[in-house]
Amino acid sequence: MTAERAPLGDDLIAELSGLLGDRLSLSAAVREQHGRDESYHHPQPPDAVAFVESTDEVVAVVKACAARRVPVIPFGTGTSLEGHVAAVRGGVCIDVTRMDKVLAVNAEDLDVVVQPGVTRKALNEHLRDTGLFFPVDPGANASLGGMVATRASGTNAVRYGTMADVVLSLEVVVADGRVIRTARRARKSAAGYDLTHLFVGSEGTLGVVTEITLKVFGIPEAILAAVVSFPDLDGAVNAVIETIQLGVPIARIELLDEVQMDACNRYSGLDYPVQPTLFLEFHGSEAGVKEQVATVEALCEGHGGGHFQWSTRPEDRTKLWQARHDAAYAAMGLQPGTKPMATDVCVPISRLAECILETKKDIVASGLIAPIVGHVGDGNFHLVLLVDPDDPDDIARAHALNDRMVMRALAMEGTCTGEHGVGLGKMDFLTAEHGEALGLMRAIKRALDPDDIMNPGKIVRV
Ligand SMILES: Cc1cc2nc3c(=O)[nH]c(=O)nc-3n(C[C@H](O)[C@H](O)[C@H](O)COP(=O)(O)OP(=O)(O)OC[C@H]3O[C@@H](n4cnc5c(N)ncnc54)[C@H](O)[C@@H]3O)c2cc1C
Repeated sequence: MTAERAPLGDDLIAELSGLLGDRLSLSAAVREQHGRDESYHHPQPPDAVAFVESTDEVVAVVKACAARRVPVIPFGTGTSLEGHVAAVRGGVCIDVTRMDKVLAVNAEDLDVVVQPGVTRKALNEHLRDTGLFFPVDPGANASLGGMVATRASGTNAVRYGTMADVVLSLEVVVADGRVIRTARRARKSAAGYDLTHLFVGSEGTLGVVTEITLKVFGIPEAILAAVVSFPDLDGAVNAVIETIQLGVPIARIELLDEVQMDACNRYSGLDYPVQPTLFLEFHGSEAGVKEQVATVEALCEGHGGGHFQWSTRPEDRTKLWQARHDAAYAAMGLQPGTKPMATDVCVPISRLAECILETKKDIVASGLIAPIVGHVGDGNFHLVLLVDPDDPDDIARAHALNDRMVMRALAMEGTCTGEHGVGLGKMDFLTAEHGEALGLMRAIKRALDPDDIMNPGKIVRV
């Protein structure tokens, strides 16, 4: 999508340079890097990139842009997948990576306060000696601000929830430069509209997140990870459905189809059978984990699941989950020169097998290479459609496959995106998903950002 772009005025550049010095970049390479994410979407660079170091600087940049109706695009680590950071109308990108401090660890309350540029891995590194951990783990080492903004999740969400569940409070600089705090540090509150959850998933379209209070969790006494292969996809998915329906408090239950397993074996130097496979992890007390394992082993066996391969040592578990997190990069290796159209849908768990199996038939008919991988315990799965971004036929076939997958998920009362978010890529599905409610979302956007300067052209068209 291209839209009207006006060059930045000299007065704005002078004001921002006066504020930030050489932390305001107009370099083509830096702008290019900030207009792209990790997907097939064509990069659309901003006109300038502001490397901010404090909330006050964010306020000053937003106010300067607001006064001239210049777009502002917040930027974390640029790992989003739906064209989220593309500067469709140009403007100033606010890069928050230098706001990377953990401000407080309140161990007794099981929460932390962080700046938005802290990445999920940096937070866990910081927490290493406290006995606590932060569970939300998108495959990329994303910034926590970006994860708030995309309402991210990952492999642990089935047990610990998504960003929607772990954010307690946010500090946000809104479109006119005001700084607001959405809630206090209390675990629950019934005091007024839930602004925290309005900003979680707002993709930079309502404000810039400058501080985040997050729940953290105690590292469980016992952790066991395993891999189990199945003769067919049907068996693997049904084993997952029964595990969830029985209420087993499993920490991770991830599906990789045979195409993805082949890719992971090659990319990560593994030698698992090239079959539909589940990666599992159990958390709890020693006795609790034993009980969970016995139940899940029996369920898997009932669906033809073979021998469990266990990883008990932390380093083996890290290797296993790194391979899972690298699945998208592994998939790209199947057809060098392509870019991933990584798309995700999420359906109620009882419809998961049907949705995945119909999608698999569709992939075969399309002739595209598109491994299936998913956080299936949540009813969420991804296709990594490998496309040549410069080949319109490839893109058209991939879009057609994606459209059918999304419409299938919606027909099953699911959603067009379980975790990647809307960006540019999923905007056209929101009417089908939300109907009248989309009008209300548009009204909220207009009320909070009347000049449409905050990451314009994303989520809702105004
Ligand atoms: C290999 C790979 C695997 C992935 N796996 C998963 C997965 O399992 N689950 C999942 O949910 N996602 C996954 N993703 C997608 C991606 O990691 C997430 O969307 C992540 O949350 C983006 O964070 P970021 O810091 O890179 O944000 P960016 O890409 O920089 O920005 C994303 C959006 O957030 C906005 N934003 C960024 N920072 C702020 C801020 N401080 N205030 C307001 N708005 C802001 C931006 O304007 C943009 O709209 C994966 C991506 C890759 C490349």
